[in-house]
Amino acid sequence: MPFHFNPWEEKGIGPRTGSLATPHGKVATPAFMPVATRGMLRGISPARVRPLGGEILLSNAFHLAARPGVEAIQAMGGIHKFLGWNGPILTDSGGFQVFSMGASSRIHDGGVQVEHPVQGGFLDWTPELAFRTQASLGPDIAMVLDVCPPRPGDRDEVASAVKRTLSWSRIQADLHRARGGIESGQALFAIVQGGTFPDLREECARALLDSGFDGFAVGGVSVGEGHEAMMAGVDLSIPWLPPDKIRYLMGVGAPRDLVEAVARGVDLFDCVFPTRSGRFGTALTWKGRLHLLNARFKADPSPIDPDCPCEACASGVPRGALRAGFQSKELLPPILVSTHNLHFILDLMARMRDSISAGEFEELRARVGKAYPAEPVSVG
Ligand SMILES: [Zn+2]
Repeated sequence: MPFHFNPWEEKGIGPRTGSLATPHGKVATPAFMPVATRGMLRGISPARVRPLGGEILLSNAFHLAARPGVEAIQAMGGIHKFLGWNGPILTDSGGFQVFSMGASSRIHDGGVQVEHPVQGGFLDWTPELAFRTQASLGPDIAMVLDVCPPRPGDRDEVASAVKRTLSWSRIQADLHRARGGIESGQALFAIVQGGTFPDLREECARALLDSGFDGFAVGGVSVGEGHEAMMAGVDLSIPWLPPDKIRYLMGVGAPRDLVEAVARGVDLFDCVFPTRSGRFGTALTWKGRLHLLNARFKADPSPIDPDCPCEACASGVPRGALRAGFQSKELLPPILVSTHNLHFILDLMARMRDSISAGEFEELRARVGKAYPAEPVSVG
């Protein structure tokens, strides 16, 4: 099956459902991608993701290229074998990670000099290398290497990031076209930068539209700027994107951020938030967050959420037992809470799809807003 996105409503803005077809299966949108940065989901096996409602995973080409390396992954049969997942996979080019490693001072017009995360020394991570790495790994969707500005509020830095992002995007669009576009079995998504500057977002989006990209991401919005600035970046980008192409908000996965972005017309998300917060003992529920290490849970006999059908809750392990387990650094509590959180987020996506179809999205949006009034920023 070739790559194809079919929005059920070709809305310019506003919540919408759709279906993304890839060579490894379909994804109902809006969708959330659990993250396997280095090829491994944290604390949950791939086989457990599908029953939770996960249909597509995200991995990171930069980290996979560093370890075990492209040739090793090819020798194992490609990225789907490596992840133990025969469904759709999207790889990030590593732009966000490269720039969050503090490489901004070593960026040049042709790429970015970045410290090799495994071997030490420096690696020149270029648009050509990011594209070829992803073409060799074989995910269903590849992302362009873009420039993620380190300080989203600094206009000169953001303008420079947009300029380089556009130049690098053209190089990667040409390579994609030369390889046959989606006929190669791989889609390529562009990334809109521009921070919270309306003219820069417009300039970036408009310039990307003509290059034949298969989807568009809103980038530079999850770098610690807070919910309002994040949504401003979305509001400034979505109106310029074609209604028939999928829209992906990178690195966002906290409940309120997800619902508010879907309200604005975003179709796809990824974030380490559900599993990372699970590892630190924070559970997501329809009544808000539970910090299980809090002393009030010491003798609490309830599972995380008595109404939740997930494996962790259905097994009935009490909150008090999870708290004690976290304190004694047992392996199981982070796994159980991560599983519950991933179920919560994937269930939230399913509820959003159903409520959009039923014309009841605003009720769900209000419910999530009430349970999560002041969202911590979801990063990465
Ligand atoms: Zn649960």
